[in-house]
Amino acid sequence: MTEDEWLACSDPTLMLGFLPGKVSDRKVRLFACACCRRVWDRILTDWAREAVHASERFADGLIDRHELRQIRSAAEQVRPRRQQEPGEKIGNELTGGLWCRSTAEMAREVAWETSGLGPRRKERQSQAALLRCIVGNPFRPVPVIDPCWLSWNNGTVSRLAQVIYEERAFDHLPILADALEEAGCDHADLLDHCRRAGPHCPGCWAVDLLVGKE
Ligand SMILES: [Zn+2]
Repeated sequence: MTEDEWLACSDPTLMLGFLPGKVSDRKVRLFACACCRRVWDRILTDWAREAVHASERFADGLIDRHELRQIRSAAEQVRPRRQQEPGEKIGNELTGGLWCRSTAEMAREVAWETSGLGPRRKERQSQAALLRCIVGNPFRPVPVIDPCWLSWNNGTVSRLAQVIYEERAFDHLPILADALEEAGCDHADLLDHCRRAGPHCPGCWAVDLLVGKE
């Protein structure tokens, strides 16, 4: 895949296939969760929604793999052994997977399943845009953060980035861009990404960089 193909791609499966070794499992998992969030009102199974919450907590290191699987086990004990309701397969894959051998494979499956809950072609395009938000441009070097940006004005940039991450307040990203600029940042890719309309989601490369997550 070339840089131009990456930037124009509307097939998240193709993009995920290009990424092994280039991004963390955390980012790939957050992409799968973001795909679920896009079609939230069409995931009708309570436990599948809980699986999304749990998977997000796992990505942030708030629960471990054991707890993630416990959530699936608990759901399996109370539901009939069918895999037909919208969200069943999604929940299974996010909590450890009955079918998946890797996080990348899990993300491919979840992206495919969730795209089927909306108009598939449009969903796939939006998923590709989410993946670009999370990964950025893998053909360019990751910007180096100047500690002065983070310490400027008693840590305004750091605090703002933290709030955006924790509260999913991605509509505040343009404010973060202004703060970064005032702090002396002139990195065009970073500023442009923060000012871009989106979509943005947890795992967004610009926010991750400022809160020190990979
Ligand atoms: Zn983003």
